[in-house]
Amino acid sequence: MKRSAVYPGSFDPITNGHIYITERAAAIFDEVRVSILVNAQKRATFSVDERCAMAREALSHLPNVKVEYFEGLLVDYVRQAHSRVIIRGLRAMSDFEYEFQMALMNRQLAPEIETFFIVTDPKYSYISSSGVREIFQFGGTVQDAVPPGALRRLRERFPGQTASDTQEALVPATEHGCARLSPALRGPEGRAALSRSGRPDGPAQ
Ligand code: ADP
Repeated sequence: MKRSAVYPGSFDPITNGHIYITERAAAIFDEVRVSILVNAQKRATFSVDERCAMAREALSHLPNVKVEYFEGLLVDYVRQAHSRVIIRGLRAMSDFEYEFQMALMNRQLAPEIETFFIVTDPKYSYISSSGVREIFQFGGTVQDAVPPGALRRLRERFPGQTASDTQEALVPATEHGCARLSPALRGPEGRAALSRSGRPDGPAQ
């Protein structure tokens, strides 16, 4: 019998951490189904089609991996997929508590289904989809955190927010009495302005 495992998640967007977990799972199971959860309650940044496309592209080097999506209860989907294994990734102790509770709830619902945890590589332990979205929107670099296809879609979704072309401007006065650095004037000019503002962490004069 084919040993099949389901790796569920939001994958909004897929990150290098997700890819790592999928690769580890694909080396052990005959088939891994990366399953994108469609949650009507949670507003995703990318549509299901976009998330599927990004995941398919990023995982195309793994012939025994399929990308799908599902709605409703995970255990129902796992049963439908004729699998008995749920894969989840662990980054830190902070993931553990939530994952442990989910695993117990799923066992309560479907005692025949087992949750397998795969520990991430330390170099991916800081990566999360929400972190990637947030950093990208504020002009930070995420190219070490996501595959090229996801970076491309982030650029399309948030045009003008790439680290290389984002500049910041010092908006001198605010009602709080401190200077504010906003996207439009980063670089030597902005930094000089910052140091003039007397901010303690500004470069030495
Ligand atoms: P969910 O909303 O279900 O947590 P995610 O897409 O955020 O969906 O994550 C799916 C799974 O991948 C979870 O088990 C999560 O802990 C794991 N995961 C997320 N990021 C990483 C990472 N950087 N390294 C390893 N596992 C990760």
